[in-house]
Amino acid sequence: MRLLVTGAAGFIGTNFVRDALGRADGVERLVALDLLTYAGNRANLEGLEADPRFRFVRLDVAERAAVAALLAEERVDVVVHFAAETHVDRSIRDAAPFLHTNVAGTLALLEAARGRPGLACFLHVSTDEVYGTIAEGRAREDWPLRPSSPYAASKAAADAFVQAYAATHGVPAVITRCANNYGPWQFPEKLIPLFVTNALDGRPLPLYGDGMNVRDWIHVDDHVSALWHVLALPERGGIVYNISAENEMPNRAVTERVLALAGRPASLVRPVTDRPGHDRRYALDSGRLRATGWRPRHAFDDGLAATVEWYRARRAWWEPLQR
Ligand code: NAD
Repeated sequence: MRLLVTGAAGFIGTNFVRDALGRADGVERLVALDLLTYAGNRANLEGLEADPRFRFVRLDVAERAAVAALLAEERVDVVVHFAAETHVDRSIRDAAPFLHTNVAGTLALLEAARGRPGLACFLHVSTDEVYGTIAEGRAREDWPLRPSSPYAASKAAADAFVQAYAATHGVPAVITRCANNYGPWQFPEKLIPLFVTNALDGRPLPLYGDGMNVRDWIHVDDHVSALWHVLALPERGGIVYNISAENEMPNRAVTERVLALAGRPASLVRPVTDRPGHDRRYALDSGRLRATGWRPRHAFDDGLAATVEWYRARRAWWEPLQR
């Protein structure tokens, strides 16, 4: 494989790239593209330059001509597209960067991929948030998309472009929609890394509303293993796979676990005014992917404990990001 990985210096991109280069075979070249926004951190990929298969390129994924030239120059045959603006609260304050990166960026990449000889797969990494809040049951891939946040709307629009380019231009596309990830290298603004780092520092944990919003948590390693599994499946044509460990939990329960693991009291929890449009519950049915043999490996309590220990040991990594 000659891989282009976009958003390679972000949370999931970093975990994917490190896993890819740790594989003994299969990866001939890995071009890591990232604009290095506030969420992208070059230090995440430190030490990888020594690997002759690895190249880092700082580039806006929405720069059509440069992206197309990079795909051609590197003879890319597999694209794994993580690059995105990803924080819901930021999308509420200003949706413009989400339209730029998530929609125009995906379109630029699709244009570059379109008609490229030898392109085997365009893997678009999407999210369960496109289904909106799930009152009952678990969302299957054929459920309607009802995004509530500007972030989710931009991801749903990108998914639609990917499917349109598969149908119209024959781009060999696959879309994955994953549940909420946790694990190492996550910028400390989303619930788990924010609460873990605040708890380690003995600072308050700002919990939205009544804390009973339910999220479906998966360890990032299990997401990465699912992406490799999907790459090896023969289906293309814009098919969608949900990725989930089917591990639903209210935010309050996650918060209590984080406090216990960090050895801090419940009095650190600070209820704050709920996020506008806050989806009450996410829950994914991952039966389509599981029917092909994929299974998650990490139990939530073990994965969370390991994550807290990772942050405890990596203060030098996250303290500068907090500032
Ligand atoms: P992240 O915010 O940690 O990383 C995003 C990366 O994209 C950063 O390195 C950033 O610098 C880069 N980037 C942003 N704008 C760019 C641009 N214009 N050009 C090039 N690079 C740019 O995000 P993440 O949590 O790693 O998520 C990666 C992908 O997975 C996203 O597409 C997201 O929608 C999806 N996803 C995330 C989760 C989750 O729980 N984190 C769950 C499901 C799906």
